[in-house]
Amino acid sequence: MSHSKTAVVIPAAGSGERLGLGIPKALVEVGGRTLIERAVENLSTLAAETVIAAPAGYEENFRAIFAQAHLASHVVVITGGATRSQSVANALKALSLTTKYVLIHDAARAFAPTELAESILAQLNLGENAVVPALDVVDTIKVVDERGYVIDTPQRDLLRAVQTPQGFTFETITAAHASGADATDDAALVAVLGVPVKVVPGSQLARKITTLDDLTWAQELVGK
Ligand code: C5P
Repeated sequence: MSHSKTAVVIPAAGSGERLGLGIPKALVEVGGRTLIERAVENLSTLAAETVIAAPAGYEENFRAIFAQAHLASHVVVITGGATRSQSVANALKALSLTTKYVLIHDAARAFAPTELAESILAQLNLGENAVVPALDVVDTIKVVDERGYVIDTPQRDLLRAVQTPQGFTFETITAAHASGADATDDAALVAVLGVPVKVVPGSQLARKITTLDDLTWAQELVGK
């Protein structure tokens, strides 16, 4: 679609503490392939370059994986930061200045299909500056204070559970990260600039692998 103008950034520098397997989560294998390989394979065909933020000390492990693989996109491994936002900011600095669109994708959402990324890119091509996939929320969500008491119940039909890949124009996402601010996703930093963030339908396959339950889900998925 817009292959030569698109870059993929994959924050993969989390420790994976909640999985408790003693290695960075992106290096965990499901069905014989690491989560980082699967995440890259699903997106790299759409991009001219892919930058991975690896945990400090594991850069060579990541490079070794991609030295072997025959991928459509050139893969660069850089050192991640102490937070997800810092990891993304570090990766953005490694992108070539001719990049037009940036897809930012959690390594932990390794099973997000290529079609989901294509739907994000399609919106960028139509002129949006920021596009995120999201699912409707089935639970009632409460805002709770530090003492554990409910302080608000947002209207459920206005809530969405946001996923990745999130897509941005290069200028928008570099401006959003210029402040060095921290957030749990990139769209939150873009919204601070007053840039509209378009929401498109997400995918159950873009589930974030966080706990052993999620890993069991992934193993069943590839076993199919
Ligand atoms: O911690 P969380 O589950 O939100 O992490 C989402 C993604 O961000 C994961 O793919 C993780 O590897 C990445 N991350 C990172 N650098 C950090 C923390 C998390 O790249 N310091």
